[in-house]
Order: sequence, then C-alpha cells, then structure tokens
Amino acid sequence: MSEVPFVESLFIGGTWRPARDGAAFAVTDPSNGREIATVAAGAVDEVREAIDAAHDALEAWSARTAYERSEILYRAHRLMLERAEELATLMTTEQGKPLRAARTEVRYAADFLVWFAEEAKRVYGRTIPSARADQRFIVQHQPVGVVGAVTPWNYPISMITRKVGPALAAGCTVVLKPAETTPLCAVEVFRILEEAGVPPGVVNLVTVADPAPVGTEFTTNPKVAKVTFTGSTAVGRMLAEGAGRSLKRISLELGGHAPFIVFDDADPVHAAKGAAAIKLLNTGQACIVPNRYFVHASLATEFLDVFTARIGRMRAGNGHQEGVTVGPLIDAASVDRMERQVGDAVQRGAKVLVGGERLTDGEFADGHFYAPTVLSEVTPDMTIYREETFGPVAPVIVFGDDDDVIAMANDTSYGLASYIYTTDIGRALRTCERLRFGMVGVNDINPTSAAAPFGGVKDSGIGREGAQEGIHEYLETRLVGLSV
Ligand code: NAD
Repeated sequence: MSEVPFVESLFIGGTWRPARDGAAFAVTDPSNGREIATVAAGAVDEVREAIDAAHDALEAWSARTAYERSEILYRAHRLMLERAEELATLMTTEQGKPLRAARTEVRYAADFLVWFAEEAKRVYGRTIPSARADQRFIVQHQPVGVVGAVTPWNYPISMITRKVGPALAAGCTVVLKPAETTPLCAVEVFRILEEAGVPPGVVNLVTVADPAPVGTEFTTNPKVAKVTFTGSTAVGRMLAEGAGRSLKRISLELGGHAPFIVFDDADPVHAAKGAAAIKLLNTGQACIVPNRYFVHASLATEFLDVFTARIGRMRAGNGHQEGVTVGPLIDAASVDRMERQVGDAVQRGAKVLVGGERLTDGEFADGHFYAPTVLSEVTPDMTIYREETFGPVAPVIVFGDDDDVIAMANDTSYGLASYIYTTDIGRALRTCERLRFGMVGVNDINPTSAAAPFGGVKDSGIGREGAQEGIHEYLETRLVGLSV
C-alpha cells in the first residue's frame, strides 16, 4: 500500500468527498519528482453536480446584504494570514517556489480577500435624469450568476482569491477547477472559505485529471453565466470560442511577452538589478516576467555586466533550502522548452553569457531545473523573440533609437506587462502612451497590487482583475425606468 496520503478534494454543495468512481491522480514535488499526495479525479457528472449546487445556492447568497458577504471575506482573510506559514510551506512543496516567495504570495492572496471584502460595500448604482418630467432612471448592479473558474499552477493560491474574492463579494456563486499540478493549495483555500462561513454550494471545488471536458461543461452548461480563466492563450482562446457560442460573459488573463526597455538616460546598474530580480520571479514562470530586454547601446556593457553577474549568482534548488532563490520549473516539458528556445537562439547567432543548460547533477537529478540564463545578440528571427518563455532565460537586444525600440516592443501579439527605465518624465509618459500593453512599470518592476487593475490587451486577454474593475467583472448592469 502506498504511504502517500489521499486527499478528498471534491467540495460540492458543502461536502468534501472523493470521486464517485474512486479515480485519483498523483501530485508531485517538482524539485525531486516525489509523490506527495493523490487527489480525487472528478468526472464530468461531478462537475455538473457542482454547477447545480452553485445554481441552487445563488438566490440565497445574492440576497444576503453586502455587509454579510463582506464579513465572511474578512474572516477568510484573517484565517489565511493565521495559516500563512503552513500554506507557504505546502506551496513550496507542491509548486516549487522558494519559501520566501511563497510567503509573499500568501500575503498577496489574502490581500484580494480583504480588498473585495471592502469593495463588496461599494457597488454603487446611480440615477440618471430623464427627458420626461414624469420619469426617473435608476442604474443598479446585480451579480452575474454562477461562475465557472479555471486557475493556473504558477500562483496557486492568489489566482484563486483574485477570482473567488470578487465573485463572492458581488453575490455570485462559484465552481472552480484548479491546475492539475497544484490541487492541494486549492483544497486549503477552500477549507478556509468553508471555515470562514461561506454557505454550502456557494463555492465548489472540482479537481480533475483531464481539464478539457470541464472547459466544455463551463462554456455549454446553461446554468453557468460566466467563465473566468487564467492560463495560456491557446486554452483561453478555446474557452472564448465556446463562451461566444453560448453568449456567456468571459474574463481571460493569458500569456505575456513583456518588453523591458532601458533608455540611454537610465541608471544602468539600477535597471540591471531590477531586470534580474523580475526575470527570476517564480523561476520566470509569471505572465508579467520580461521576455525581451532592450538596452540602449551606450549602456549595454555596464548593464550586461551587472545583469549577468546577478543572474549568475542566483542559486537554484529546492525552495525549502535556505539561500535558494530559484526553484524548479513546474514540469519536464518546461525544461524542454528552455532547451529548445536557447538551442534555436544559439544556432541563429545568440551568445550565452551565463547558464544555457539543464541542471541534472546531484540534488537536481530528479527535479525540473534549468540554469538561470542570459542570452545576448538576440534577433527577431529567433523563436525566443516571439514565443513566451515562461522560464529563467533572459534575451537581450541592444537598440539605438527610441522609435525603433517602441516599434520592437510592440511587435508581439501579446500585451500584458511592459517596463521602461528612464529618468526623463516626459519620455516616460510619451512611451507609456505608445506601448500597447495593459500595464507599464516605470522604473518599477512590480506594478501589481490587489488595489490595481491587472490585465492585458490583444492575445493577453480580456478584462481586469483586482481594483474597482475586478468586482465589475462579476456584475451586470440593470436599468430601472419609473413613471412617477
Ligand atoms: P494552461 O492554459 O495549460 O493551464 C492553465 C489552466 O487551464 C489549468 O488549470 C489547466 O488545467 C486548464 N486547462 C488546460 N486545458 C484546458 C481546457 N481545454 N479546458 C479548460 N481548462 C483547461 O497553461 P499553463 O501552460 O499550465 O500555464 C502557463 C500559462 O498561463 C502561461 O502562458 C502564462 O502566461 C499564463 N498565465 C497567465 C496569467 C495572467 O494573469 N495573465 C497568470 C498565470 C499564468
């Protein structure tokens, strides 16, 4: 018999249970391939049951006052902070990020609960003057209804609260399918929601071994009013097609290909420090991580010296170990992608300044590790110039002219995050206005917060999460016209 624990990971109508047919799948530690648990592999009829439960719970939940819903979110926020250390420890084991980064993510996740506990009470309507003396217009906001949510593995707790927080605040009910690689973090979040007093059926969790049928169910089931998804552009596009056919509301947070521009008036050392820190955020597995570094020719040597030294100093390893700053990649396919993109770039003339190889010896033998890497002399014909890397590889391109670099930065189908370094405020504002991205960091590598709207344009998605915008993704507008 296996010593690995089985976790009852289906939470439907307020009850935790295994899959009816007993199916389960394994969860592993990406740093060493060790199996850490098995969880329930739900079937499509169980997804349907969860949708039914959410549908049944909708009327009573949306009829609660905003103050009552807010109170429950405040309790969930407090519980999450109380359990921060155990959540972070689990995240490091299941997802791989260093413990310090996991702690930061738990705080970020909790921020969405408290932010939307507050926003729940600020869903204001308005009145509009009528041209008729005997008429009044009132605009109200009502919850969209049942929400089908799909979340990724790279931020396995905060991507859940960023969707469930506003949905609950707005008065919606939810069925959530987490990523197959990180279901244990999702289970812990749902235990917190249950303990905080979210009534049965209002939030439902379905873990599955194969996500495709869930996507189909979410986009075709008439009881689902809205689909919200964070993940790859390919899957987002598929869900949008399905939601288009059934005319469901949809929000998509998808991939990115962020440019990082260092203008000739920037401090190259400050820029290089920021550039290195953001590149290795979550081992490069974040949609806002820069994928193309554009550095002005006059600063290139100084920037590259500091950048390469900093990237080279990062220590890869198991995130539980003291001093480790770069965890494993999530799976073997990700390591293959690094190898393919770096191999293609080198073959087309790029230079490896540091890294450029899989890590396979000793402690790395059974994990998914790739050395933090800097490539110079990258050109537009290379795969890495176009394709999202989602890993610890930094391509550098030297430029000479502002117009050229803005054109190169915009030369991507993605439009999520972008970064510029300059000390000239006019140039900063002019550049922000010309960059076709949802977010711009100006001398700032972390333009994210529960209070700020997060999201992209073009292939990076539709809609915004966090901020005031975040709750409106879960609200419909209703007009009341009165003859008086
Ligand atoms: P992915 O799209 O394969 O997986 C993301 C989620 O979608 C997982 O839960 C997965 O099970 C589910 N999924 C996969 N196929 C599905 C289907 N047919 N129907 C329904 N659900 C399905 O993405 P990935 O490669 O695991 O994650 C990395 C990608 O996610 C990157 O492209 C990254 O940029 C993007 N991402 C974006 C954001 C953002 O906020 N914009 C955040 C994190 C990740």
